[in-house]
Amino acid sequence: MTSINFKCPYCSHPTTITDPNYFDCWQRMHVIKSDKGDVGLFIQSITCPNKECQKLWLRMEMNSVDYKGIRQDWNVIHQWQLLPESEAMVLSDYIPQPIQQDYYEACRIRDLSPKASATLARRCLQGMIRDFWEIKKSQLKDEIDELKDKVDPDVWESIDAVRSVGNIGAHMEKDINIIVDVEPGEAQLLIGLIEQLVDDWYVARESRKKRTEELKRLVANKEMQKK
Ligand SMILES: [Zn+2]
Repeated sequence: MTSINFKCPYCSHPTTITDPNYFDCWQRMHVIKSDKGDVGLFIQSITCPNKECQKLWLRMEMNSVDYKGIRQDWNVIHQWQLLPESEAMVLSDYIPQPIQQDYYEACRIRDLSPKASATLARRCLQGMIRDFWEIKKSQLKDEIDELKDKVDPDVWESIDAVRSVGNIGAHMEKDINIIVDVEPGEAQLLIGLIEQLVDDWYVARESRKKRTEELKRLVANKEMQKK
């Protein structure tokens, strides 16, 4: 019995996926010989159970095979997020376009080039600090320093971590022979923080705005009734 916690990337509905909405299959590629060795493909698909959405999520992974032909799920040689093209969450229109673009691009290249993805996450963060907090300095480090009194200490530390990991792709090491790499999982951590900040800053502000407008309308209505 399948039971997977899943947040639909199209409609953002958190849900538990069960059998009628889940399909996977595994195919060993035992005929061909390549530099990849003995491998196979694992395909996973989910359809969103939300009736208004029902969109397809599709992912494929290449794994090595042991001598019995059994899939080594811990040994992922390649993985491809096919639909949607990346695991990006859908950002609302009130988030500025340049921030959206950097975010989507960071998600799209996460597995292909985690280092470039981290650099884009850093740029995205800078855009958010400048737009949301209206802090504009020539160096991101100075902007983050100014943010220190405005956000929770643990959030601030995470923000500073995005800056320092993003720097790996943005600047060459002084000794150019030193290669510092970024793993896809690490790039995802930065993307996750951007998503959290979008929620905490932009989405929260928008729902505050909405609530205030509704309250104003309510008061106006009551005043009308009194007259
Ligand atoms: Zn959905």
